[in-house]
Amino acid sequence: MTELAEPRALLGPAGLLEPGTELSRYEQAPNLLTGTAAFVARPATEGELTALLDWAHRERVRLIPQGANSGLVGGALPDDSGTQGVLSGERLRERFELDTASRTLTVSAGWQLDEINERLAPHGLQLPVEVGSSPSVGGMLSTNTAGSHLIKYGDVRHRVLGLRAAVPDGAGTVLDLSRPLRKRNEGLDLKQAFIGTGGTLGVLTEASLELAPLPRSRATAWLAVPESGLLDVLTTFERHCADSLAAFEVVSPAAAALLTERHEHLLNRIPRGEHFLVLAEIAADDERAEDKLTEALEAAAGQDLLHDARIGAPQRMWEVRHAIPEITERMHPVLSLDLATPRSAITRFRAEVHTRLAETCPDIRPIELGHYGDGGIHLILPLPQRIAADRDRVDELRMLVYDIAVHRYAGSFSAEHGIGPKNHDAYLRYVPEAVRATAALLKQHFDPHTVLAPLPRER
Ligand SMILES: Cc1cc2nc3c(=O)[nH]c(=O)nc-3n(C[C@H](O)[C@H](O)[C@H](O)COP(=O)(O)OP(=O)(O)OC[C@H]3O[C@@H](n4cnc5c(N)ncnc54)[C@H](O)[C@@H]3O)c2cc1C
Repeated sequence: MTELAEPRALLGPAGLLEPGTELSRYEQAPNLLTGTAAFVARPATEGELTALLDWAHRERVRLIPQGANSGLVGGALPDDSGTQGVLSGERLRERFELDTASRTLTVSAGWQLDEINERLAPHGLQLPVEVGSSPSVGGMLSTNTAGSHLIKYGDVRHRVLGLRAAVPDGAGTVLDLSRPLRKRNEGLDLKQAFIGTGGTLGVLTEASLELAPLPRSRATAWLAVPESGLLDVLTTFERHCADSLAAFEVVSPAAAALLTERHEHLLNRIPRGEHFLVLAEIAADDERAEDKLTEALEAAAGQDLLHDARIGAPQRMWEVRHAIPEITERMHPVLSLDLATPRSAITRFRAEVHTRLAETCPDIRPIELGHYGDGGIHLILPLPQRIAADRDRVDELRMLVYDIAVHRYAGSFSAEHGIGPKNHDAYLRYVPEAVRATAALLKQHFDPHTVLAPLPRER
């Protein structure tokens, strides 16, 4: 058992939760992945955090950074050994520095998306990330959160002007890469090494973020579209709305059917019948969002691409979209895959996956929803018990789909959720050896004793 006298003295009772305390909220992710924490360390300042990392480096203790624990690949969870500590960033909240003239925010890693946007709204500003969860700043940078507004605003990486990262090198190093500048060309842009790398290289303590103006008007509709027309509707909307197209989310008929079973009260907000549904949102910097939406709808209808459409208040329409992952994340057993292909290939990719699955497991009915506008697709495969009980079979299924995405369509096995333990094998299979070797060199430099989660290695 780890001797905790030093972190106890360093962090105090609010900063160190020891065995015997209720730790379960740090040990279970929303999609039911679990781990067992030896303790939970909750530093409140960067100074406490660096001292904690030094202790862990000296004592060879593994610490798993955790933000709001809404990640879906197990990256924020300790393993089942009961020997790893959770390093929660939730008390890192010292800074919230808004510069309205520069449209930037410098903020500590523990702040969460919803509370940030609540504070920004009176200033007409936003951090434009649209997700069904409320992630922390540390978690958003570490997973490079994407979400449903990527098509207009880009992923979180595009918002990051700077960051600070504490690394467990035994020397108390904090990399200050945090000046909130849009223009800075001073050689290697090292901050990128800490974005999207799942807390494997360092612990983020704060970020400087570029904000976006809140749109002056928004208009949202659910469309019923034949699958063959999805790409044409998307390009029609882009032609008519240009930069104002803020979301183009697709829900397959099987995914929409889940609402019928569990959220009947939402059904009057979407077109009836067995169609692909699209949630299209226009966010305009003038008052014309509804006009633009109407123009785009008329253009799509004029090409016979639409079966039906319902326009409604954005919040009511998004409730429908967010209800679906809430259902699928609690489905069990499922194989849930987070994929991307070029947009132009997504329909062919989907058809090939369906054909191959029908050949190998005809009783699996895939459920799909996704950020189609940027080539993302969440593929959820409800598993019959006989398959779920056979780990090799589940891995085979996963690799069957990943192979199609990566090898046949130049896609990705992880569109937005990251690597974590869940994608360990896929990282080894698809990430080129030279890239993995370079990542391992960085890991060795910043974290020579593997205090933070290890990079995937051959078992
Ligand atoms: C209903 C629902 C919908 C979602 N929709 C989307 C979506 O549309 N798009 C999307 O991209 N994601 C989505 N997610 C996934 C999740 O919300 C994101 O991955 C999010 O960015 C995780 O942030 P977090 O604060 O919860 O991080 P955590 O889950 O706590 O951690 C995630 C990773 O970041 C690391 N980490 C956390 N804090 C730090 C830190 N301070 N320093 C270094 N590393 C750190 C962890 O070690 C872990 O590897 C969804 C999740 C849910 C539950």
